Amino acid sequence: PGFRQGIMGPQLMEEMAAQALHVGTVFQEDRIRAVNFTQRPLICYGEAATYVADAVVIATGASARWLGLESETAFRGYGVSACATCDGFFFKGKRVAVVGGGNSAVEEALFLTHHAAEVIVIHRREALRAEKILQKRAFENPKIRFIWNHVVADILGETEPRKRVTGVRLKNVLTDAQETLALDGVFVAVGHTPNTDFLAGALRLDKEGYVAGSPDGQGFETATEIPGVFVAGDVKDKVYRQAITAAGQGCMAALDVEKYLATLPSS
Ligand code: NDP
Repeated sequence: PGFRQGIMGPQLMEEMAAQALHVGTVFQEDRIRAVNFTQRPLICYGEAATYVADAVVIATGASARWLGLESETAFRGYGVSACATCDGFFFKGKRVAVVGGGNSAVEEALFLTHHAAEVIVIHRREALRAEKILQKRAFENPKIRFIWNHVVADILGETEPRKRVTGVRLKNVLTDAQETLALDGVFVAVGHTPNTDFLAGALRLDKEGYVAGSPDGQGFETATEIPGVFVAGDVKDKVYRQAITAAGQGCMAALDVEKYLATLPSS
């Protein structure tokens, strides 16, 4: 919302960072390796420095999992994507593939039918992991077809006249036979990994490693079980995963922090 022609994620983040800078936010780039939330003030141990704070917002996001192919890295942003809602628009009338068989893969495939002419789901087994209702919608959609028991062995593309994906080399996991499939885009949807390694033992995580969170019932919707530690965005939310929902949660967390700080005795 707010950009008539649409905007790519990285540019949106640059604009947001510039705006935050403009209103006086101090940025410190560092990688946090560990935290100590058992004492006050709270401590975050970074590679460059150690930070102490009365309140901390965890907003480290989740990283898309990739197939691990060199060609996948080479063509990322040039036809290879892990986000249909971000990049689907660029494939109007095109033929695209989605790799994976979970809820994300099927949701991405359904979303892509709004833009692409044909969506091919490539899955390494012959049964989807996605919820039955999503499966039914995908099976009934005439724009979606499935290639079962196959993995993507390589992503094919060209650099002239412009860098773009032209297809994939598929491998049948049962027979090892390989074949080429012509495509304009490949959406990788083989899951996400929340960026929570540095929180191990410090905060309650769910079984997939996302911050569990703990609304305290007193208006702090973004609270965790540790007073003063709040959470926002994809590091907790694995359902919506959108820039606007994450930013909204960031705003909620900031308001919660402000209210929380006001409850502390002034020093
Ligand atoms: P999942 O882990 O559920 O699914 C990943 C899929 O990718 C699986 O089908 C898996 O195959 C396949 N896969 C994994 N690695 C590879 C690989 N190297 N090569 C080929 N295929 C691979 O991840 P999702 O992102 O789909 O979902 C994550 C969580 O988020 C789930 O709990 C899901 O329910 C939830 N979610 C919920 C939504 C909703 O409620 N609407 C929407 C999106 C996600 P295999 O099946 O063989 O393991």
